[in-house]
Amino acid sequence: MSPHILVLGGTTEARELATELTARPGTKVTTSLAGRVARPGAVAGDVRVGGFGGARGLADWLREHRVDAVVDATHPFAETITANAARAATATGLPLVVLRRPGWRPGPHDDWHPVPSQAAAADLLPRLGHRVLLTTGRLGLAAFAHLTELRFVVRSVEPPEPPMPPHTRVLLARGPFTVADETALLRDHRVDVLVTKDSGAAATSAKLTAARDLGLPVVVVRRPPLPDGVTVVPDAAAALHWLDVPDRP
Ligand code: NAP
Repeated sequence: MSPHILVLGGTTEARELATELTARPGTKVTTSLAGRVARPGAVAGDVRVGGFGGARGLADWLREHRVDAVVDATHPFAETITANAARAATATGLPLVVLRRPGWRPGPHDDWHPVPSQAAAADLLPRLGHRVLLTTGRLGLAAFAHLTELRFVVRSVEPPEPPMPPHTRVLLARGPFTVADETALLRDHRVDVLVTKDSGAAATSAKLTAARDLGLPVVVVRRPPLPDGVTVVPDAAAALHWLDVPDRP
């Protein structure tokens, strides 16, 4: 019988994996999207959109749709769905792998300030600069809303949700970005500090090189921890390899 793989998506890696899996004769693949982005782009295979209703709802969905294995290829900061996937896999006894691209690593000339949360980033910011490029996404800007003295450039794919700091300029853009573009952006807006999540994405890493070249400090929001005991692979190729292992625990 053809195996049914559920890919929890929302990332480039999830899309790559769906493309590879649908090319395999006899494999059924369903990619699940949260439905946050208006135009998510084409995904190979079946696509379902929207929440499952927590870990229990996901477990029910897995049983009902006779899923054989789950690949959690969600974003490194999508903490709730990753926790739910681990719980649902335990409840159903299904194999689960987490596809997580590696985080970014600072080089010797980087001035990085790792913090555990956006709130901690906001606490630190006034000591590092006054003109901020904020690239942490459209959600969570409330953490910075009280920083009334600072000037913000917020870059996100979709319009950010208020509350946000009073002196905010919004730039809607989707990567990939080049180092030349990022350098021009930082210079044009006279940015003196950058804030980013450690997404690890190649498409958005040019800003780190540009910040290094300009000698700017970077506040890096660290990733939330993964659930205990989950198997983690770094890319779509490794996830495919994992799916091929016959006697997975
Ligand atoms: P989250 O906080 O972990 O999840 C919140 C709820 O959204 C989950 O409990 C689940 O609802 C639903 N959900 C999330 N991902 C889903 C998926 N792939 N399929 C079906 N339902 C999903 O997630 P988030 O941080 O809001 O991210 C939402 C999606 O955007 C993720 O799929 C992620 O890959 C993508 N994304 C996130 C970020 C980021 O910075 N967080 C960046 C880029 C892309 P139920 O409990 O009802 O099942």
